[in-house]
Amino acid sequence: MIDTHAHLDACAEPAEALVARARAAGVTRIVTVGTGIESCRAALAVADAHECVYAALGIDPHQASSSEAGRLDELRALLAHPKAVAVGETGLDGFHHFAEPADQRRLFEFLRNLLEKAHHQPGSEGQCERSKSDNQTCDAIQHTEVPEDDV
Ligand SMILES: [Zn+2]
Repeated sequence: MIDTHAHLDACAEPAEALVARARAAGVTRIVTVGTGIESCRAALAVADAHECVYAALGIDPHQASSSEAGRLDELRALLAHPKAVAVGETGLDGFHHFAEPADQRRLFEFLRNLLEKAHHQPGSEGQCERSKSDNQTCDAIQHTEVPEDDV
């Protein structure tokens, strides 16, 4: 059994205890998802410490209008880590309104381009944030242009 979307860096309990409990329940692999640059670093640290843990790295659409969206070069570098297996925590969120829709779309397109570039690498996946905007996200996936030199 694989847990494809955990936030092991964001729980009150230490990651060690969470991983041990998941393994005891039959979970064999966990993908922990970083939601911003520091969270991505923490997710990779947990992945480094546990053979069964991998990381999906992204910036939550809620932070698309914040300074976090200006740290995309750092995110790109972190994605080169051998246990970074997905671009995650992305998408469009039209429910909470924590970030401007245009900023969310710009961030989403950047992350999608990163994923397109990584697509020929085995294990490259994308994870979209679950939200009330799933239809908008699907529409953006279908209509995003992927310029060759943008990433
Ligand atoms: Zn999440």
